[in-house]
Amino acid sequence: MSSTHKSMKALGNPLADTQVQLDVIEHKVELPLFHEKYQETGEKELRATGIDIFQINVGKLCNQTCKHCHVDAGPDRREIMTRETFELCLKALASSKIQTVDLTGGAPEMNPDFRWFVQEVKKLGRHVMVRSNLTILVANGFTDLPEFFAQNEVEVISSLPHYTPSLTDKQRGDHVFERSIEAMKRLNALGYGKPDSALKFNLVYNPVGAFLPPSQSSLEKDYKRELWNKHGVVFNSLYTITNMPISRFLDYLLISGNYESYMTKLVSLFNPAAAKNVMCRNTISISWDGFLYDCDFNQMLDLHLLPGNARHIRDFDSLALGTRKIATDQHCYGCTAGSGSSCGGATT
Ligand code: SF4
Ligand code: SF4
Repeated sequence: MSSTHKSMKALGNPLADTQVQLDVIEHKVELPLFHEKYQETGEKELRATGIDIFQINVGKLCNQTCKHCHVDAGPDRREIMTRETFELCLKALASSKIQTVDLTGGAPEMNPDFRWFVQEVKKLGRHVMVRSNLTILVANGFTDLPEFFAQNEVEVISSLPHYTPSLTDKQRGDHVFERSIEAMKRLNALGYGKPDSALKFNLVYNPVGAFLPPSQSSLEKDYKRELWNKHGVVFNSLYTITNMPISRFLDYLLISGNYESYMTKLVSLFNPAAAKNVMCRNTISISWDGFLYDCDFNQMLDLHLLPGNARHIRDFDSLALGTRKIATDQHCYGCTAGSGSSCGGATT
């Protein structure tokens, strides 16, 4: 994978244009169309079954520039959610029965309204999850975040591509592993990740290369053993996630000559049981500028909800959206191969 500290957008990479990405995934290799393949599940089309998770991508600003990032996030990105849009999210949430708010980015904590928003969601009595990259918790100006998370019972979910320092740093940047362990120690000291604690701390594994994740349960055992024996840190569950053939990982696949074999592998491993449990079925995804999407991946490809649905959070209607037909494309094979992949790990 190429090494850079800038986003593809800042580097002027043509793949920063979502239409260019869509042209590649739709036309570069001839593959069965996802929406036709989906019928192997026995269902005619992919539809939502309700909305349980309100996932907000609060912006593309991040302190890291990981090589597989599907958001193309980084320190040079300036797109972040404003207070006004956060308020529209609160209004939508209050009008619904959705119990879980999942905050992602970028590094969501870098949005200046992040803490205020978490507290407002807690006032509504809803559960908050934050996808934290860990290193932000030991960065200047953010070191009190673990206490803030604990006070508000925020569930923390963090990517750690491997339990060996070299593989994690290869994907996420120099010294990321060491700083992640430091952050994990702080979280553990507050009770995060301990088996009988209410403070949940989960890790996410994604492959460092063009292959699918191994078994989630056996990898979780390896992570637990290695992280405890070598670093004295604990966590609750490990989620394995398949790398999506979009954005920076798509760039890597094309540059390394792995694109065709990776996509062919995803299609050949299509699993109808995994396909029936994809996360878009019970999630709605909101972008930094308030637009609605079926998932964070569709958001990054600018694939809006299908016509006939509300497009923006100001028009949110959880009942109507809870039965919507999902907008799919060839990248959806990334969610349905093998054991399946979602923000909460394997789907089977
Ligand atoms: S920490 Fe997350 S959002 Fe930031 S660059 Fe890495 S993968 Fe992207
Ligand atoms: S990429 Fe998004 S829309 Fe496609 S199957 Fe996965 S979650 Fe659903």
